[in-house]
Amino acid sequence: MKKEDLQIQGMYIVVSAPSGTGKTTICRRLFRLCPALRFSVSHTTRPPRPGEVEGRDYFFVSREEFEEMANRGEFLEWACNFGHLYGTSAKALTELMAGGSDVIVDIDPQGARTLKERCPGGVFVFILPPTLEELRNRLARRRSEPPEVIARRFERAKDEIKEYIWYDYVVVNDRLEKAVSHLQAIYQAEKLRSFRMEGVVRGLWEGK
Ligand code: ADP
Ligand code: 5GP
Repeated sequence: MKKEDLQIQGMYIVVSAPSGTGKTTICRRLFRLCPALRFSVSHTTRPPRPGEVEGRDYFFVSREEFEEMANRGEFLEWACNFGHLYGTSAKALTELMAGGSDVIVDIDPQGARTLKERCPGGVFVFILPPTLEELRNRLARRRSEPPEVIARRFERAKDEIKEYIWYDYVVVNDRLEKAVSHLQAIYQAEKLRSFRMEGVVRGLWEGK
């Protein structure tokens, strides 16, 4: 898909964080506070965790299905994380935005960089854990992966954290309520950016 093909009306907010930091938890709370906000549902070859719902959390697909989609150029970006493939479908994201929705995109820094290049106008938020020790505890407490996968996710976190520097905002998830309200404040402020106000100003003249 070419840049010119992207008919963008809503905005998108990328939320990245080392695995286990709490971004899924924060985003779920934000959706409750902002019901019009939508989620870009990625495709993945990872098996579902208990409680994860097909089409809400991810589209769970086989490796063959994923590779066919990738070969057909259906992903804006995709990456291999911890042995599984994850991708953002161009159709899902651009249709939501073309319909006027604002969209949260939960992807890793590698995918975030690709979106920044391919889809201008995104807002990039990095979420940090309060300490590495607490990150390790959260990964363990979630009980969704075996210890060796937890260890790999923890090791990867140390590299991923270095990426915070090129994001627009950083939120520290020490207290959940505070982190959610910081993310909501970012969203609200970004909605009020002057360059997003063209429609409002046009309405002023037209209503004159
Ligand atoms: P991620 O989506 O970043 O991988 P999750 O949202 O799955 O992380 O959170 C990982 C674990 O940490 C979960 O068990 C979640 O309940 C817990 N958690 C999230 N935020 C906090 C917080 N602020 N304080 C304590 N535990 C938290
Ligand atoms: P998890 O298995 O914990 O749900 O996700 C593992 C990592 O993959 C997280 O960093 C998450 O943000 C990332 N991820 C989820 N969906 C996508 C995607 O579509 N593209 C990319 N590049 N990363 C993704």
